[in-house]
Amino acid sequence: MALVDECIFCKIIRGEIPSFKVWEDDKTFAFMDINPVAKGHALIVPKFHTPNIYEAPQEWLGPTLGAVGRVARAVRDEVQPDGMNILQANDKGAAQSVFHIHFHVIPRIVDDGLTMNWDMVPGDMDEIDKLAEKIAAHTASE
Ligand code: AMP
Ligand code: ZN
Repeated sequence: MALVDECIFCKIIRGEIPSFKVWEDDKTFAFMDINPVAKGHALIVPKFHTPNIYEAPQEWLGPTLGAVGRVARAVRDEVQPDGMNILQANDKGAAQSVFHIHFHVIPRIVDDGLTMNWDMVPGDMDEIDKLAEKIAAHTASE
């Protein structure tokens, strides 16, 4: 089944609870976050219940990312921020609170104080190279 009964985002997709919809097509749905960290904070979800990026079928990720781009451009045009972050959380350790995969579109203003930025400190290139090889092997066997 594509959608499940007890999921709040499935309920939003089905129209069982209200949302501030900004986009919908046959595979995707986008709406405003009701606890916005910034003016224009929006969420994009597939019309397919899957908890996270690990479980999401590729055929749903493609259209969902297409909708992310569409909504990001729309929010940019309307809000005219200084920048935009796309955020997607997986599991409690990453502060995921709704377990239906979703992408956050978060407009940014210089010095807005949001703490998802980090200082650029060069890594150990040898270590990065070795890790990249190992990850590439996992990616190839997906
Ligand atoms: P995350 O912490 O990445 O799982 O994000 C879940 C997001 O969903 C939070 O930013 C919430 O504010 C948002 N959210 C939860 N319930 C609703 C709702 N009914 N309508 C809109 N946004 C919601
Ligand atoms: Zn769901």
